[in-house]
Amino acid sequence: MRLKGLGVSAGVGVGTAVVLHRASGDLGFSVPARRVPREIERLQAARTAAREQISHIKDRIASSAGAEHAYLFDAQLLMLDDRMLIDRAIEIIRNHLVNAETALQRTLEEISALFDKGDDPYLRERRGDVSDVVGRLSGNLRAGGDPLAFVRELEGPLVLVADELTPSIIAQLDWHRLAALVSDEGSWTYHTAILARSIRIPAVAGLRNASAVIAPGALVAVDGTTGEVIVGPDEATIAEIRARGRQRAQFEESLDEFRRLPGVTADGVAIRLEANIESPDDAPRAHERGADGIGLFRSEFLLAAGGQAALAEEAQYLAYRQLVTGAAPAAVTIRTFDVSQAQMPIEQVGFDGSRSPLGLRGIRLSLAMDDIFQAQLRALLRAASHGSMRIMFPFVSSVEELRAAREAVARAAASLRARGIDVPRVPTGVMIEVPSAAITADLLAAEADFFAIGTNDLIQYCLAVDRTDDRVSRLYEPLHPAILRMLRNVARAGRRRHIRVSVCGEMAADPVLLTLLVGLGVTEFSMSPTAIPLAKQVLRDLNAADVTRVAARALRAATAADVEKELTTFLAPQPVK
Ligand code: PEP
Ligand code: MG
Repeated sequence: MRLKGLGVSAGVGVGTAVVLHRASGDLGFSVPARRVPREIERLQAARTAAREQISHIKDRIASSAGAEHAYLFDAQLLMLDDRMLIDRAIEIIRNHLVNAETALQRTLEEISALFDKGDDPYLRERRGDVSDVVGRLSGNLRAGGDPLAFVRELEGPLVLVADELTPSIIAQLDWHRLAALVSDEGSWTYHTAILARSIRIPAVAGLRNASAVIAPGALVAVDGTTGEVIVGPDEATIAEIRARGRQRAQFEESLDEFRRLPGVTADGVAIRLEANIESPDDAPRAHERGADGIGLFRSEFLLAAGGQAALAEEAQYLAYRQLVTGAAPAAVTIRTFDVSQAQMPIEQVGFDGSRSPLGLRGIRLSLAMDDIFQAQLRALLRAASHGSMRIMFPFVSSVEELRAAREAVARAAASLRARGIDVPRVPTGVMIEVPSAAITADLLAAEADFFAIGTNDLIQYCLAVDRTDDRVSRLYEPLHPAILRMLRNVARAGRRRHIRVSVCGEMAADPVLLTLLVGLGVTEFSMSPTAIPLAKQVLRDLNAADVTRVAARALRAATAADVEKELTTFLAPQPVK
C-alpha cells in the first residue's frame, strides 16, 4: 500500500509502525513474544477494574432509580466474561503479537461486523453496550500507565504514525530509535515538522487516514522528501528507498564545504545566518552546521519536554545557562514561552480553556500570568551574564504589550539586584508575526532593540490560512503581494531606526524565498541548522544588487504567480536546487 502526503522533513526511514490515536488516547504497537504475558496481564487487570466499576454503577442506579433499571448493567457484566470479548482479545495478542489496546480494538471491530450482519434490533442495541464496555476497558488500560513509557521500551527502528503528532510527544521519546514520523494532519510550518527537521528525522504529514490504515507492527518505509509512505514494502522497494536516502546524504555532504565559509553574497554583502533550535543540547550542533549564533530558541519546548517542573526558575536558569555557554562566544536570542493557555503545564483557575491559537497565547499569556513570566525573566537575566543573550517576545500585537513586557523585564532585574545579583543589560526585541505588528513596525521600532520576523505566523494570520491545516496549505503563500509589502515595511522600519531585523520563519530556509528576502534588504536570518549549508551556497552565488532590482519588480506584481515568475526568471540560469 502506498500513501502520499506532504514531505515535511527530508530523508528516508524504514521501521515498524507504532500507531497513536491522540484523539482517543490509544496507542497501538507490536510486542515481542516475551512481552505477550504482560499485555495479557494488563488486559485482565483492566477487566477486574471494569467489573468493580460497573458493579458500583449498578448498585447506585438500583438504589436511586430502582432495581428494574439496573439490569442493563448486568448485560455489561456478562460481556466482561463473554468469550467473544476478552478471550478473543487475548487470542489476538498471542497470534498477532500486538498490545492489549490494539487487540481490544480489533475485537470490537469483529463484534460490530457480526452485529451489522443480522437485522435483529436487540443485537443492534447491544452494540452500544459492547462499545461502552470496550471504551471502559481501554480507559482502564490507559490509566494503568503512561503509554509513551511502553513505546520507550520498544526496540527500534520505529515509525511513529499518529492522527496528530504534537511536539510534546516527540520531545518525550528517544529520537535515536525513531526512523520516521507520519501523521494524518499537519504541514510544513507545524511545530512537529520544524522539530523533525531540526532533529533530522524524516517526516510526512497531511496523510488524512494513515493512522487508520496502517496496522501497528507493520513495516513502513517513509520518504520525507517526496511525501511517500509505503506500507509492507518488498525487498526491492526497501532497497530503492535506501538508495534515495544515500543520495540525499551525498547531496548534504556535498554542501559540507560551505559550513565554515562566511555568509556573504557574491558582491560582498555580509549575511548573518543563525539557527532556530528547540533544545539547549542543539547549540553546539548548530555551530557545527555553520550557524553564526542562535537566532531563535523556542523556550516553550522546555515545557513540552519537562512539564510543570520546567517552569521553576532554577530549572530554567540551568537550561538557559547551558544554552548560552554552549553557544558562546556566539549570541543567543531566547524567545519567552510561546504557548497557548491549554499548553501551559499547570492547573488553571479562572481562565477559559480555549485552545484557539488566537486566544491567550505568547506574550498575552505571559502578561496574564505574572508569576510565571517573572520566573522566566529572572532565569533569563541570571543566565545572561554567562554569555551573550537577547530576549524576544512572541505574538506581540501592539506597542502597549511591548511596553508591558519591558516593564516586566525591569521588575525582574530589580528583584534580582535586590537579591544582590548583578544583571547585565539584555537587549529586548519582538517577533513580528502578527499583522498589526508588521503594519505598525515603525512604532514598535522606536521602542524595541530588534525585530525577528516570524513568517510562519505572519503569513497564516495575514492570509487567514491555518498553518497546521493541510487542506488549506495551497493558500499558504509566502509570495502573496500582501506578505511582500509587510516584509518591506518591517525591513524599512528597522533600517530607519537602526535596529537589527532578521527573518526566523521557515521561509528563510527556502533558497528561492531567501533570495527574495535578501532583495527586500534583509541581511539576517535564522533557520533550522540543517538548512544553513545550502543557504550559504545559494547566497555566495547571488548578487545582492541584482536581487534588489528583482524584489523591486516583484513588489509591483499583482499576484503571487507574477512574483514567482520574476524570481524564477532571474534564478533560472543559476544552479539553485
Ligand atoms: C514564526 O512564527 O515564524 C516563528 C518563527 O515562530 P513559530 O514557528 O515558533 O511560531
Ligand atoms: Mg510564531
